[in-house]
Amino acid sequence: MEIAIDDDVRKAIELVRMIGREYLRPLGMEADRQKRPIAPDHAFYAMVAKSGYMQQGLGGERPAKPGERRGQSAVRNVLVAEEGSYWDRGAMVSLPGPGLGGPPVQRMGTPEQRERLFAPFRQRERPVWAAFAMTEPGAGSDVARIQTRAIKDRDGWVLTGQKMYSSNSPRAEWVVVFATIDPSLGRAGHRAFVVERETPGFTILRVEHKMGLRAYETASFSLDECRLPADSLLGGESYYEGRSQRGFEGAMSAFNATRPVIASMAVGIARAAFDLARDVVVSDFPIQGEQRRRRALERLAGIRQQIATARLACLKAAWLLDTEQPNALAAAIAKSYAPPVALAAVETAQSILGEAGMLQDALLEKLARDVKAMDIVEGTQQIQRRVIAKNVIGVLGGEPAGA
Ligand SMILES: Cc1cc2nc3c(=O)[nH]c(=O)nc-3n(C[C@H](O)[C@H](O)[C@H](O)COP(=O)(O)OP(=O)(O)OC[C@H]3O[C@@H](n4cnc5c(N)ncnc54)[C@H](O)[C@@H]3O)c2cc1C
Repeated sequence: MEIAIDDDVRKAIELVRMIGREYLRPLGMEADRQKRPIAPDHAFYAMVAKSGYMQQGLGGERPAKPGERRGQSAVRNVLVAEEGSYWDRGAMVSLPGPGLGGPPVQRMGTPEQRERLFAPFRQRERPVWAAFAMTEPGAGSDVARIQTRAIKDRDGWVLTGQKMYSSNSPRAEWVVVFATIDPSLGRAGHRAFVVERETPGFTILRVEHKMGLRAYETASFSLDECRLPADSLLGGESYYEGRSQRGFEGAMSAFNATRPVIASMAVGIARAAFDLARDVVVSDFPIQGEQRRRRALERLAGIRQQIATARLACLKAAWLLDTEQPNALAAAIAKSYAPPVALAAVETAQSILGEAGMLQDALLEKLARDVKAMDIVEGTQQIQRRVIAKNVIGVLGGEPAGA
């Protein structure tokens, strides 16, 4: 692995650091206190749109051809996500852009679909969001069980079903919705559609009250006989021909792009907790005795080591993606490793700070509530271990393992 971070990536990190200090953290804290997401018409989002931020990470209008370098879009995505989440992971996810809806369009969409769907993100006049919806009341980890039904009719498709925990969907211009043409087919029935906001029958049912990460909305919605044009099927009919699980594989391929990003967000949270604890140890602990100071520093050293390892795992998964190599194993390793590191960092910081780490309205108390979801989104630890196990069997059987 050889990663030389290029100037564009450095600039992107610097921009997010500036936005993070000035806006993400204060707005994230305010949203947490008020138990309300940041309003979509907040002036901050207009400013972000004007900065050109929405265009970052679109990764061009087409995926790279085999053997062609795509630049560092995946590496940039993980480092920017880490930096933004250092300041506030909830506010970071609330930023305008295609979000989790981007990778499936990038990987499964036709050139026309990519052009059409990404066009709103190429302007700077107004903030625009997109979203991704796989999870259903009866299908979380086991995505093969989705029941949202897609029925083909003469001039398009009709979608009926219910989705839950879809982030940013209430403000999204479009949502990538995974549905099935026949639930009895399992994975082979999966198809990905783009549902535009104004589609009749698309109704937001509920915005969840989350324990943390309150700056963005996570919502349930229903699709009540939503009639969609034929070109709302991602990739078109031909994409699904020939390979029976192409729709499911498309979703998994999108997860390979998004898991390292979510993992790096956990790294950002871990860094925030680490810095809080380090500052307290440096400023207060000399007064509180050498032994206590040494014990705290030892614990911090352990956390620092884990943060460095987690960051490398994320970078490796991203680098593989940027260099057109299989990264399923590396993405699963990053996603299974980083969230427990963040949890340990927050817990360690809380025990170093003592009661100050539990006080409501304090950043650390908020981080303790924010961090849990990092293990859940884009597949829990148990699910990542299943992916790792499958790859291990691949290694033993002499098949390519992805990393
Ligand atoms: C803040 C937040 C934002 C989210 N945003 C989105 C979004 O934008 N779009 C979207 O589609 N979804 C989103 N999700 C949903 C998320 O992807 C699911 O919650 C996640 O996949 C787990 O599904 P579940 O909650 O149904 O848990 P379940 O699948 O019911 O799992 C419950 C427990 O059982 C374990 N488990 C399940 N199956 C197995 C197995 N085979 N072997 C071992 N253990 C197993 C799991 O690890 C977990 O511990 C979001 C969730 C949260 C919390």
